Amino acid sequence: MYEMWAEHDPAVSPPAVVWHVVAKDDASSSLCGRFLEPSQRVVPVGDGAGAAGPDRYCDPCLVTVREALAASAR
Ligand SMILES: [Zn+2]
Repeated sequence: MYEMWAEHDPAVSPPAVVWHVVAKDDASSSLCGRFLEPSQRVVPVGDGAGAAGPDRYCDPCLVTVREALAASAR
């Protein structure tokens, strides 16, 4: 199973939250190979207030999930 992991992406301006995908059996890095620091994790407030901008999704993570789902459906 997979879990979503939100982080601030320091490479973009203005700062945006990027969602990565983490496999539950290996929570030390995201599917795109990014090392995940629990202290860097962003916990969204949910009501949208104070959000710096629209959330973005990590493309390599989503591609990996899509491929995994396609493979398991066969
Ligand atoms: Zn990612």
